[in-house]
Amino acid sequence: MTNTQIQKIVIVGGGTAGWISAAALAKLLPPSISVTLIESDSIATVGVGEATIPQIRRLNGMLGLNENTFLKATKGTIKLGIEFSNWGKIGESYLHTFGDVGLNLSNLQFHHYWKRAQEEGKQSSLWDYSLHHKVAYSNKFDRLERIGKTGMTGLSYAFHFDAGLYARFLRNFAETSGVTRIEGFVKQTVLNPHTGFIDHVKLENGPQIEGDLFIDCSGFRGLLIDKALGVSYQDWTHWLPCNRAIAVPSQSTRPLVPYTKSIAHTAGWQWRIPLQHRTGNGHVYSDQFMQDETALEILLSNLDGPPIADPNHIRFTTGRREKFWHKNCISIGLSSGFLEPLESTSIHLIQSNISRLIELLPTQKMEPANINEYNRQVSKEYELIRDFIILHYHCTQREDSDFWRYCKNMDIPDSLKQKLELFSATGRIHKEPEDLFREASWVQVMIGQGLIPQSYHAMADRLSTDQLEKFLADIDAIIAQAEAQLPSHEDFLTRNCQV
Ligand code: FAD
Repeated sequence: MTNTQIQKIVIVGGGTAGWISAAALAKLLPPSISVTLIESDSIATVGVGEATIPQIRRLNGMLGLNENTFLKATKGTIKLGIEFSNWGKIGESYLHTFGDVGLNLSNLQFHHYWKRAQEEGKQSSLWDYSLHHKVAYSNKFDRLERIGKTGMTGLSYAFHFDAGLYARFLRNFAETSGVTRIEGFVKQTVLNPHTGFIDHVKLENGPQIEGDLFIDCSGFRGLLIDKALGVSYQDWTHWLPCNRAIAVPSQSTRPLVPYTKSIAHTAGWQWRIPLQHRTGNGHVYSDQFMQDETALEILLSNLDGPPIADPNHIRFTTGRREKFWHKNCISIGLSSGFLEPLESTSIHLIQSNISRLIELLPTQKMEPANINEYNRQVSKEYELIRDFIILHYHCTQREDSDFWRYCKNMDIPDSLKQKLELFSATGRIHKEPEDLFREASWVQVMIGQGLIPQSYHAMADRLSTDQLEKFLADIDAIIAQAEAQLPSHEDFLTRNCQV
């Protein structure tokens, strides 16, 4: 080891971001690099963040966590996708599933064949060819990698879990992996007067904690990246006007559905997340278009069981830090930016950013090229997710409130405009390498919101009408057979984590 290597990493904040970062660093870095996490019992974590996307399974795999133990400890359930109700039109729903729809043939995406069949008069929904859709709506689940030898992929899934239990679970893992936890309130961040780097943080009760690299996981406060280093914030409220959320848990109801529900209201939307012991609910809305009291009323009148705690009011500004890594400080979690939880992407961003940091781990010199590359990658990922979320609001036929009229008519980023134009004209999706969401996700949300392409790819005409008919009928039969063999979601949980 040379003396230019970093030796001491300090994490400020013990929410989901702090503990995921601590767990990953402790697992992957050599023991010669110490990891210290400071958190204050006097400042609560945001306490929401209960739905995930399939990438979380990679994090679990990287940490070596047993999935059944994890589900049991966090009172988790399975998530196969998100049901969006009233988004494209009031009264309509679609499921953004984590899987492929149908089967891509000769490298051509399935929806081109589906579109051709539509033009030839077939009355079927795209989701008639989705295994995830069928399984989700029959409340079933089991681990299924592939469907026999059919070439069709099996079930891609994520989890819903209790955010508090998840943080506890990770803390336990991180502490047993060697992370030192310090309970204390960070009162001051002291910079080196020559370099402007963070030298140490001072705790209210006296001690000062020095480090080579500081990770700001202090949540919306941005204690280091903002308050100490003054890195500015890009505000995206003009594209994503929601800036408030009210969260309230309710009594658990049965059956436990294996998907999140997202129900659009007049100035935002409501989430419903089924856990083993309760249902997580929240209303995300814009205070420009709705009063807090009305938002609360709407939430409380749309619960499917009685509330079991007081409502938690949360304010946020959608956007991102101008730089995520500045000097010797990296912001991870809510301190780095916030995209509303519509597609459950925040926990993923924590995990992808900590993986990136490990890949680009600096020496004490904090190489600028390394920092620039990190900032480039994270900005790109944020912007692609932002576009995907804007899509849900902008691509709507709703005109029933000022909020929806604003979203429908607002100017959108050029990057999204191009995607929409391409899909609308040709049915094609241009997927950028950094895009978290697959083509199948863009297709489901675009078609689900009512954007049907005007044409399909000429390759879909290679099949004769009979071949096309058989192709679709075979997929239908394969899916029905696979679904019939699965146990209920609840049986799966009982069998695997003794619910
Ligand atoms: P926090 O949870 O706020 O933790 C901050 C930590 O910093 C705390 O431990 C606090 O004690 C500490 N701290 C702060 N100041 C000091 C100080 N001075 N001294 C010492 N310690 C200090 N994400 C998803 O992936 N899926 C979802 O479904 C989802 N839903 C969400 C719904 C809403 C309404 C919101 C707002 C967020 C949601 N998220 C979701 C995001 C997710 O909750 C966060 O990304 C995640 O919880 C990370 O938060 P954090 O750790 O950055 O911050």
